Order: sequence, then structure tokens, then C-alpha cells
Amino acid sequence: MSALALPPDRVAGTAIVAESFESFQGEGPLTGQRCAFCRFSRCNLNCSWCDTKYTWDWSQYEPTEVSRRVPVPELVDWIAERAVDLVVITGGEPMLQQPAMTALAAGVNDGVRVQVETNGTQAPVPALAELVDLWVVSPKLANSGVDYSRRIVPHALDALCATGRAVFKFVVTDHATDFDEISRLADDFELNPIWVVPEGDTREKVLAGMDAIYDPAVERGWNLSTRLHVLTGAR
Ligand code: SF4
Repeated sequence: MSALALPPDRVAGTAIVAESFESFQGEGPLTGQRCAFCRFSRCNLNCSWCDTKYTWDWSQYEPTEVSRRVPVPELVDWIAERAVDLVVITGGEPMLQQPAMTALAAGVNDGVRVQVETNGTQAPVPALAELVDLWVVSPKLANSGVDYSRRIVPHALDALCATGRAVFKFVVTDHATDFDEISRLADDFELNPIWVVPEGDTREKVLAGMDAIYDPAVERGWNLSTRLHVLTGAR
């Protein structure tokens, strides 16, 4: 839907954004797809291996230097200028800013798919749930160092499953322990389909991780994702 066709209140508001850029989707089912990324700032978790700590770790970063408040219509215009058919709203945890996400998703042009990357701890409001084409939900495992009660929120996982447009992507550091934990979560919350991706911030680590989880992923009937942005050195 065109932003111009919307009543003003649908495109009003601002988002706290860390960065926006055009690139290729680096992980998950749409890997390789050209897209516009809107990375929202702030997160409710603190994963030990997080590669976007500039969205939340104020012991290392000054929030006014690594984020800015952006009017949603400005983001909508920026996406339109990219001439892409996919926008990825990511974070941090973008679901902490659902009014802005909803306005953004409602404002993008017809034919632009909206993908949201979320840690799965926040249930979507109905207006947003309707507008998102693909939820890439990444519940965190014990390897994140975050307590179970903070990283696994049953009602939020249930709500994301209920959209019928969610996939579940897990970051794996050690498949010997992580895969059993993923299986338990998949059974407990009926998560499907499952994607696994190796943790790693270097090409060597990602390639070694993919080698390690390739066969175990085949055995479990799961999907395997690389980290294209790490392999290519892109964002
Ligand atoms: S949920 Fe995502 S953004 Fe938040 S700390 Fe964990 S890896 Fe980082």
C-alpha cells in the first residue's frame, strides 16, 4: 500500500533506529534476496555472542551516538527509493517498537514484502501481525547466557506460530548440546519449520560451524542457513 494512500495517523510516529542500508539478506529462508534493512535500536535481551551490541549495550556504546529517532515517513520514503521488493525490519529487538513497525509495514509500497526478525519474546499486535509477510523468529538457547524465563516467552511464541507465517531460526554454537535443546523447544511450542545457523563473526568460524552442523541438521530434518554477510564481509 502506498504511504500517500494512508490516513496521516497510519504513517505518523517515529522509530529509534540504529541504521538502515541496502544489502542482501544474509540468513534464513530468504538468504541472498536483495533488500532494504531497517535496524531498530534497543533490545530486551543481552546475548553473550550478540553481533549488534550497539543496539543495546550501553556499557560499550553511547545510545545518542549509535541510534537516532527517525520519522516513520522518512523511512518509508527511503525504502521506496531503494526500489527493492523486500524490507527487513530487524534489531536489536524491533518488536519493542510495534507502533512504529506497524506504521512502517503499512506504509511500504504494494509489492514490497515485509520480513521481521525477532527474538520471539514479544507477541505481535493484530494490526502488525496482518501486515508482516514473514516472521523469522530466533528464540535464544542456553548458549546465549540469558535465563530461560527471559528468552522463552510461551504466549509470544504461540502468537507468532498463530500467524501461520513464522519460521524459527536458532543460532548454534555447539550442536552436541544445542540440537537437543532445539528439539525440546520445537516439541514444547510446536515450532516449525526449523532453521539452524552457525554462530560466528568470521568466515572461518561460519564455514567450520556449517561443516559441523550439516549432517546433524540433515538427520533432524531441519533447514541450514549460512551467514552470507559474514562470508562476504558485507553488512
Ligand atoms: S536478542 Fe538479538 S539483538 Fe538482542 S541481545 Fe540477543 S542476539 Fe542481540
